[in-house]
Amino acid sequence: MDFLDIDALCVNYNQHNHITSALKDVSLTLPQGSIGVIIGPSGCGKSTLLNILAGLNMNYQGKVFIDGKPPQESKETALILQEYGLLPWKSVWDNVKLGLQIKGASSKETAERTKNILNKLGLLHLKKRFPIQLSGGQRQRLAIARSLILQPELLLMDEPFSSLDALTREEMQDLLLNIWKETHLTIVLITHNIEEAVFLGQKIFVMSASPGTIIKEIDNSLAGDYSARGKMEFLEMCNSLRLGLRGRDEHAPKKLNP
Ligand code: ADP
Repeated sequence: MDFLDIDALCVNYNQHNHITSALKDVSLTLPQGSIGVIIGPSGCGKSTLLNILAGLNMNYQGKVFIDGKPPQESKETALILQEYGLLPWKSVWDNVKLGLQIKGASSKETAERTKNILNKLGLLHLKKRFPIQLSGGQRQRLAIARSLILQPELLLMDEPFSSLDALTREEMQDLLLNIWKETHLTIVLITHNIEEAVFLGQKIFVMSASPGTIIKEIDNSLAGDYSARGKMEFLEMCNSLRLGLRGRDEHAPKKLNP
């Protein structure tokens, strides 16, 4: 069994007796230590899928296993939301240490690990600031620090870089990749951004419009290659993905359809 194993997942929302089918027959697998990217049109159920994986929604049919356990029993999962989920009234330092404190770690261990992770993410000199006093990229790094300090096995990210400018976005993608190379965490990332999907996604899952299902799965050998950005192969892969998203996959070059 793969680390992440989803089979025939269906999710319906019932609001005032109106049923919305958000996910229909979603099946995917992801090996431990790899980066999976989910891309699809707005409203196709990407956030629904992430909420299921985070154990926040247990109202589903089908099979969902993380390392052999249902999501609600899997304690080693971290979720980073679009708005980062930072606590505005706590300093950078206190935001990061909170998770460990809640887990009951000693104050010595908490201080050491908080310092290490802030140092690694280039935020130690900003430890006394509050989230509102940080740039978008710094807030994003703080959100990553808050998650990593808990040493999760699975990191879920919902459109993590969507509000950043293009350059900061690339810097954050590089940072995430460096973290992955160091930790070999399993990462599931949702994005609307095709270039981001091709740069980061070792496996790319393309979802259809609502009700969402996986219409294409790509094993992407270009993922994680800094020098690939801007090269013809990379652009061709982006184009293939773009056509796939528009449901016009038959026009994609054959060699780009593994
Ligand atoms: P995405 O993240 O791809 O934009 P979502 O998972 O947010 O998509 O939503 C998928 C579908 O489910 C949409 O049609 C949305 O309107 C609907 N939906 C999401 N959450 C709820 C909810 N709590 N109640 C009813 N419908 C919902």
